[in-house]
Amino acid sequence: MRADLILKNAAQILTCRGPAPRSGEAQRDASPIANATVASFEGSIVFVGASRDADAAVTPTPHATVIDAGGGTVLPGFVDAHTHVVFAGDRREELRRRLAGATYQEIAASGGGIVSTVRDTRQAKDDDLARQTRVRLDEMLRCGTTTCEAKSGYGLTVDSELKQLRVIRRLDREQPIDLVPTFLGAHEVPLEYRNRRDQYVDLVVNEMIPAVARERLAEWCDVFCETGAFTPEESIRILRAGQAAGLKSRLHADELGLSGGSAVAVHVGARSADHLVFVDRDHAEAMARAQIVATLLPAAAFFLKLGRFAPARMLVGTGVPVAIATDVNPGGGFSPSMPFAIALACFAMDMTLDEALVAATLNAAFALDRHDRIGSLEAGKQMDAVVLDGGPVELLRVGAPAIRMVIKSGKVAWSSG
Ligand SMILES: [Zn+2]
Repeated sequence: MRADLILKNAAQILTCRGPAPRSGEAQRDASPIANATVASFEGSIVFVGASRDADAAVTPTPHATVIDAGGGTVLPGFVDAHTHVVFAGDRREELRRRLAGATYQEIAASGGGIVSTVRDTRQAKDDDLARQTRVRLDEMLRCGTTTCEAKSGYGLTVDSELKQLRVIRRLDREQPIDLVPTFLGAHEVPLEYRNRRDQYVDLVVNEMIPAVARERLAEWCDVFCETGAFTPEESIRILRAGQAAGLKSRLHADELGLSGGSAVAVHVGARSADHLVFVDRDHAEAMARAQIVATLLPAAAFFLKLGRFAPARMLVGTGVPVAIATDVNPGGGFSPSMPFAIALACFAMDMTLDEALVAATLNAAFALDRHDRIGSLEAGKQMDAVVLDGGPVELLRVGAPAIRMVIKSGKVAWSSG
């Protein structure tokens, strides 16, 4: 078969092949092929297998790009299944104050916190919001991310939520990373609705969701189900309204306490419940029965200094498919790096390296309902790949430049050299 991109001589290719999702024992296997080659034509993989079989199977087109992986490792492009990458403003100064002992309440009282991001995002022009977000997406690409979920949720008015989602659609076209849009109008009750929160839920259900659906601006509806944010009852109402408008369900669940989010996920048939720092075995078993993905965000627990991480071992042992994501956001998601999330998955949540790699690729693709196209290196799937110098353990050496090249849809999207 013809190929216009050939990545040859990899010491190993970690295919992370399906069927998706992988759970329990099956998550431990990243399905490696030693001494391997992968080739694609017009962005789709046509061959993955032993290098000795590649010459017979693959005919390069006249202008084919042939890359010698030089004894390195090739793995699927990372799928970052939970981000708040679209926002305006800068809260780095807040981080410095927090590290010096300021509490979240003190920072909020001086005009910081999520309220400041909402203010800046509401005020930002589309171009400015796109420009600020593009900088972060470029960083993520260099860290190996080839698809990322992106949420609204810093507008909290009909117009500014739509503005965020339109910027996601525009950036999806303008830069290499594929963006998967999620409506998160129920991120926080905005200041002006604090004394009449029911009316804000009404606004989300009766105006925002229909407007988002009309313009087909999102695939997913998300809710921050947590004490102090949205109750399980409110979350169910919002997610059901999303489903009725054609938006699939995912949600922020049990991050700061066992507050009902995982139960809501089971109740509404969500594809993914995210964070789950406090989920217990009973709720995990219900998630496993429904094959709801646990999307874990260890970098969030790390930067927020929660003092604990999601019980990944219990979740894997219970048979819940586990994915991991960065949670890029202005207040506590300071790392664009999936390799950093993988390192935390291994060293703070006791996952094996292969489990973490499957979590960052195939299972994350399943969490976004894109597993038929991405998340593994298999014939017929999109050619999204990361090339490492050396073995996959290099990814755990946080800060070391392990990634040599990022391939998106069969083209070199970033290269260290
Ligand atoms: Zn989040």
